Amino acid sequence: MPEPPLPAQASVVVIGGGIMGCSTLYHLAKLGVGDAILLERNQLTSGTTWHSAAQVRALRSTRNLTDLIRYSVSLYASLEEETGQATGWINKGSISIATNPDRLVHIKRQAALARLFGIRADSISPGEAKERWPLMNSADVIGAVWSPDDGRVSPSDLCAALVKGARSRGARIFEQTAVTGILTEAGRIVGVETARGTVRCDAVALCTGLWSRKAAAMARVSAPVWPCEHFYLLTKPVPGVQGNLPTLSDHDGHLYIRDDSGGLLVGCFEPLGKPIDPDRLGEDFAFQLLPEDWDHFEPMIANAMHRLPALETAEVKMLLNGPESFTPDGSFLLGESAETRGFFLGCGMNSVGVATGGGAGMALAHCILHGHTPTDLQEADPKRLPDCLASVEALTARAPEVLGKHYEITYPGRQWASARQLRQTPLNEKWVAEKAHFGQVFGWERPLYFDKAAEPALTFGRPDWFDQVGQEVARSHESAALFDLSSFGKILVEGPDAEAFLDRLCANDMRRAPGRAIYSAMLNPRGGVESDLTALRLSDERYRLTVGTAAIKRDLAWLKRQLRDGERVRLADETEAFAVLGLMGPEAACIAAAAGAPELNGLGYFRHGEAEIAELPVRGARLSYVGEAGWEITCRAQDAAIIYDALAAAGARPAGLFAQSAMRIEKRFLALGHELDSDVTPLEAGLDFAVDWRRDFIGREALLRRRDEGVRERLVTILFGDREATPLGNEPVTLEGALFGKTTSAAFGYRIGRPLALAYVDTRMASELEGLRVEIDIARESFAGTLSLEAAFDPKGHRLRPGRPALA
Ligand SMILES: Cc1cc2nc3c(=O)[nH]c(=O)nc-3n(C[C@H](O)[C@H](O)[C@H](O)COP(=O)(O)OP(=O)(O)OC[C@H]3O[C@@H](n4cnc5c(N)ncnc54)[C@H](O)[C@@H]3O)c2cc1C
Repeated sequence: MPEPPLPAQASVVVIGGGIMGCSTLYHLAKLGVGDAILLERNQLTSGTTWHSAAQVRALRSTRNLTDLIRYSVSLYASLEEETGQATGWINKGSISIATNPDRLVHIKRQAALARLFGIRADSISPGEAKERWPLMNSADVIGAVWSPDDGRVSPSDLCAALVKGARSRGARIFEQTAVTGILTEAGRIVGVETARGTVRCDAVALCTGLWSRKAAAMARVSAPVWPCEHFYLLTKPVPGVQGNLPTLSDHDGHLYIRDDSGGLLVGCFEPLGKPIDPDRLGEDFAFQLLPEDWDHFEPMIANAMHRLPALETAEVKMLLNGPESFTPDGSFLLGESAETRGFFLGCGMNSVGVATGGGAGMALAHCILHGHTPTDLQEADPKRLPDCLASVEALTARAPEVLGKHYEITYPGRQWASARQLRQTPLNEKWVAEKAHFGQVFGWERPLYFDKAAEPALTFGRPDWFDQVGQEVARSHESAALFDLSSFGKILVEGPDAEAFLDRLCANDMRRAPGRAIYSAMLNPRGGVESDLTALRLSDERYRLTVGTAAIKRDLAWLKRQLRDGERVRLADETEAFAVLGLMGPEAACIAAAAGAPELNGLGYFRHGEAEIAELPVRGARLSYVGEAGWEITCRAQDAAIIYDALAAAGARPAGLFAQSAMRIEKRFLALGHELDSDVTPLEAGLDFAVDWRRDFIGREALLRRRDEGVRERLVTILFGDREATPLGNEPVTLEGALFGKTTSAAFGYRIGRPLALAYVDTRMASELEGLRVEIDIARESFAGTLSLEAAFDPKGHRLRPGRPALA
């Protein structure tokens, strides 16, 4: 039969016919985009999807990622009824075992999280685990968690069902149709090119799996995706394997195990993966596999035989080796690109593409139609990753580590070992000399703490760096510390319409005089926080915005997209042009004076002004993210080292990110991705002090509605009674046994002498929050805490503005 001609026009073109493309098309059609088309250069599922082990494990690190899989599960279980096509959904649950105490804490933390997210997960004994998996050697198992809701699916059948559902609603699919070019005009998608002609469209969904980096480049978009080889062993039938079994996760052994046609399927995430250049696979790589690599797999076989002695006599069917794509931080890419409007990414699935695909396709379709995902998904937003992590060099180094970390214990403070030294602040050499222990944030090397003796031993208990961080906090509290804030995003907004533009975007009043600093949230039309920033008004027509280190790409894209035709505003990323030193502590004033800038002392709280340090120009802004008196001192990047020397000679000593983070939690200062996201409004977060209702601004209507309805959650501080408790954030909070909320950030509060956390709690469950006694579940152990609506340290902010006027 001749191929049907391509349409000249489609609202949305989905590129790629794996699980992500099929699910996105299905959901677009379901949302009423009946003219959406899918272009697949080979055949549907022929990339990675066809050979997937296709396990579906519900629990992810955040509620919204977990909800995507929960959605997948209900979709996979119900598609047959809707379409008549079975998906092969089998709900047999999964068991995670622990063979060392830290793994036990890890899986118990996961069980606690599951409870918080409404997923069933029960701690079971090694004996009970063995009962559910009789072939397992449980001699070294010290604990286990049983998750009854997990299952698996047949990936090809699933895609067939999705496609059937999409077609029945008008969507069309064109196989053997490679996209060879992407057409843009003025930074917007206008069409795609194929060997069979051009299709004009308003939006593209890029679901091209491991080929996405190159495919995105056709639209001048950075998509940091790189494949690794990924292995599972299949055996012929094994005695004792009858019917379907739960999935057995032995993450200490890097393994997952399940039955397959009466035999065993043993998959692994070995400690270091093998990257593979997608160009080596070529464009015709359809329904193909990579060669077996027994040398690479061998250590895993030893682990597998230890866990399943029956494997010793089992006959091997094959060692399946298929490529799968990974991203630099192990989370997938979903959402509109920063670079090109109408270009949406749905790729880099990090080996959970089948589990997540149902929900992720739904979220992507929603995003294409409504401009935002149905719930906040900043952990998947393509704009969270810097371009420096998208180079071939960085990706070939990082992707194998990401694969290796997939089953690692998620210790607090864990850092990436590969693809480092990509971006250094102008003070990097100073920090190396001070024996900094570095972490990577948005590609930047940031000092976490100083005086590092050796690589820290990671633990869920009190960390190795506890004392060093304590000393750095003490410096800032008792004398003066220097924090390197240079990686914070800096955006220049200038032009005759700069004031009106920012005033429309920001919830706070931005029409203050030059010399003022303004803290504000930028809200979306739903009233949720897209970003929080501090603006320095430099002149009538110029503002410099400081945003989070990892928020710069997203915030710039947001600002650009709000610009109206003809609005006279120029936006520029000045992050690398300037360094920022946070000089904080009671001796900051003497140090600034000794270094040549006594005039900084004349600045009131939330005021900024020019000065000179070591005869070089600086701008000091009297504000603080750590709650001590001082300035954020901005200077030209090339002057930073000399200015640092002058401040250090006058007595300031360095402090790192861990100290800053502990101090901001004591001060109840909020952080994007922890307390703030695009679903949370300033009302829940307690940021109403920075909302100026008198003006019209984006999100005001929604915020007013929320205010009238009343909020259901509120941010509180929790003070722990037990000094030895080690909360990390993301823990359930209960009130008289009932789920009451969740911690968002946690630390040891050195200035208050005990652990504390910030948390959202359900205001419908208690009318009086102040002083309320609650319990916090840390790895299934209960700790008592007391709520406060104020900051734990210096709630009135006396230390921030000694003798200065009240907050502007
Ligand atoms: C061994 C193995 C085991 C796995 N086990 C699991 C598991 O247990 N659970 C789980 O959830 N996930 C698992 N995964 C991962 C999962 O299979 C993938 O995440 C998922 O299949 C990726 O789907 P996708 O749609 O993103 O990519 P793909 O399935 O690769 O689809 C991309 C498609 O895009 C097409 N394409 C590329 N470029 C173009 C172009 N220019 N024009 C048109 N078409 C183009 C390709 O031909 C391909 O068909 C496993 C993966 C492997 C390798």
